[in-house]
Amino acid sequence: MRDPKDYQFDLLASHRPTEPPLNEKVHPVAWAAARHCTSARTGDPNKAIRAIVIHATAGASTSGAVSVMQEHRASFHWLIPDENEAAHGKFVWASAPESRAAWHVRNNCSHKNVFMGATRINDWSLGIEIVNTQQQGDKFSDWQIQACAEIIRYAWVKYPNLTHIVSHARLDPMRRTDPGANFPWEALEHQTLARTE
Ligand SMILES: [Zn+2]
Repeated sequence: MRDPKDYQFDLLASHRPTEPPLNEKVHPVAWAAARHCTSARTGDPNKAIRAIVIHATAGASTSGAVSVMQEHRASFHWLIPDENEAAHGKFVWASAPESRAAWHVRNNCSHKNVFMGATRINDWSLGIEIVNTQQQGDKFSDWQIQACAEIIRYAWVKYPNLTHIVSHARLDPMRRTDPGANFPWEALEHQTLARTE
């Protein structure tokens, strides 16, 4: 079993794919809350994006994840629903505008292999939250991993400087373990990169 702190793979500009539009739906409650729990990015938002951070909720529902945004405690750009939810297998939720910096990583966090160890990661990243309890036996579904790869590929097409795909645990190892030891990181990497080889 791999350590979530080691979860990272990088995208090569030379392998940038062409993709159909992402199958996403705006989550109206999250989107409204995002006005109060996101920040303006510094500089051109399209050039700013360098990384995508993968999270898991440690909760069992989309509404539970959205409540964190409603309380203005944290935010993320997409939410991937769990197996027992109606959206599962169909679409992902867009929860905050990509042009805004969501609040998903602490400002003092960094990793030497991610954008040269820069801090203030929210300013130059996108956050994906996957609904999963992170408890033993609660597997991430194949569709969740496929949906996550589709978001990454969509962003890879759109953002010329996007390079690093990384776990929250790698960026904040003292406080966070998400997306957790159950997360099939190799499968995500394979599904993201496979069709470009
Ligand atoms: Zn996280």
